[in-house]
Amino acid sequence: MRKLFLLSLAIFVFGADLYGWGFFAHRKINRQAVYLLPPEMMVFYKKNIDFITENAVNPDRRRYAVKGEAEKHFIDIDSYGDSALYTLPRYWNQALEIYTEAELREKGIGPWNVYHVKLQLTQAFLRKDAKAILRLSADLGHYIGDMHVPLHTTKNYNGQLTGQYGVHPFWESRIPELLADEYDFFVGKAEYHDKPQLSVWEAVKGAHLALDSVLRFEKILTERFPQDKKYTFDERGGLNTQMYSRDFTLAYHSMLSGQVERQMRRSVKMVADFWYTAWIDAGQPDLSGVLLPEDEMPKEDLVPDKEIKVREHEGLAFNDFSLSPTLLSSLVVPYANSFAVELRYCRMASPRRKNVCRKTSSFSSNKVTLKPLKSEQKELMGTTQI
Ligand SMILES: [Zn+2]
Repeated sequence: MRKLFLLSLAIFVFGADLYGWGFFAHRKINRQAVYLLPPEMMVFYKKNIDFITENAVNPDRRRYAVKGEAEKHFIDIDSYGDSALYTLPRYWNQALEIYTEAELREKGIGPWNVYHVKLQLTQAFLRKDAKAILRLSADLGHYIGDMHVPLHTTKNYNGQLTGQYGVHPFWESRIPELLADEYDFFVGKAEYHDKPQLSVWEAVKGAHLALDSVLRFEKILTERFPQDKKYTFDERGGLNTQMYSRDFTLAYHSMLSGQVERQMRRSVKMVADFWYTAWIDAGQPDLSGVLLPEDEMPKEDLVPDKEIKVREHEGLAFNDFSLSPTLLSSLVVPYANSFAVELRYCRMASPRRKNVCRKTSSFSSNKVTLKPLKSEQKELMGTTQI
């Protein structure tokens, strides 16, 4: 039998990426943070603001290519029990006295990783290493942003445990994409943090405490909106896409009383604060002479590694599907600006026989059920051959 699989990916685009703030929001956060810096730092950052902006999303891309990356983007606080938000050790070494490293990594190491990257950035400032300063600043901006997303602090990260599948990209991508242009990002000047580890945990705490409304309000509105008013269809990037409707988004945003904006503003502030703190800790090196010609900008060549097991996050869970989630994840990489994938799967048994196609159910649950496709659906766009 000829082994030819055709996959059509009809992607539900809720906005930007697969993890953390959507691509749009991550870029926005890093870019806005530059404007909070003191003139001594601004001289360097402003010159490289496009790099800082564009590379804000690199850590998410890295998840598919670098082992150990995925767990840096979240922490499942509620996996540790009721009062974990207050009792989990704030320092990595203390955490290791109680839990194994494997256990910590499995549940996410987001807050501890932020501090680790901040230390690396301080070292880069000490060396006046322009490339490292830029790469680490962009990374740090991403990780700090992630720690402000409520759904990055829970095992119910995409509403999959409460029948709210898709809420993650909705909150962090669809809303900012639709509304962030109206957000107010004047959040003061960068400030020094005496104890950055504790500051990150405060951010995580704030995000986690916001989780209740994130889920509750979505549920309330879902009861009020008929299905055909909750979602809308659009074509994006040549693919048929389904997304939360504008009306539903606006109603949710208003019910949350600007929560998404608040979290974005806090992200921007903390990103600038941490860049600034790293610079101060390095003895405030003079950055005016630290230049980087255009053609020497660091580039990251990320090749998806199929061996890497990436957590089935937003929309990817193929429990009864013959293709592994890892493989599917790698297929999704080219569509990294998209979310929750609905997958259509065709097997061509022989040239003479008709394709047998199946498709996944939509994101009503994270357990995928295969259903036969109707023949007229073969004009599906976005076919990927593997
Ligand atoms: Zn992320």
